[in-house]
Amino acid sequence: MSGGLGGAVWAATGEPWAVPVAVAVGVLTDIDHLVDVFDGVEEGYKLHMLRPFHAWEFAALGVFALFAYFNNPLYLAAVLGYISHIALDEVGNTTNSFAYFMTYRAFVKFKRKRLTPHVFSPRHWSQSSPPFWAKYEPTIYQLWRWYKGRGSRGDRSGA
Ligand SMILES: [Zn+2]
Repeated sequence: MSGGLGGAVWAATGEPWAVPVAVAVGVLTDIDHLVDVFDGVEEGYKLHMLRPFHAWEFAALGVFALFAYFNNPLYLAAVLGYISHIALDEVGNTTNSFAYFMTYRAFVKFKRKRLTPHVFSPRHWSQSSPPFWAKYEPTIYQLWRWYKGRGSRGDRSGA
């Protein structure tokens, strides 16, 4: 996904580095999973959803700053790569709709019970585990899951 947008920036601006920059930003956003290692665990569940690199606020700041660096195709590629990552997480993961807003996460004190309540329901774990190819194509898997889950989304978003 971010690669495709990087390709679009390349086509529009003639800057081939737009592709690796967009892909790198899209991939590196998820290294914030590493902080989960330090999170406390209760009854087998992590307590918090910190995700310091995941925030629509950052995307908004990035777009805002675009006006200052409007002529830099690499910066444009980075912003698009980031936005596509957050957007895919938003539609692909069954989180609270506001979970990808840093301010909302802070508001609920980063508690997973508020942000990803589905994880705590037994039904979540009875669902089939991701197919093997999801590891190699997480983007397509997220889209596929979003497509499959559209119908049943309403009854999962309690609490
Ligand atoms: Zn992510």
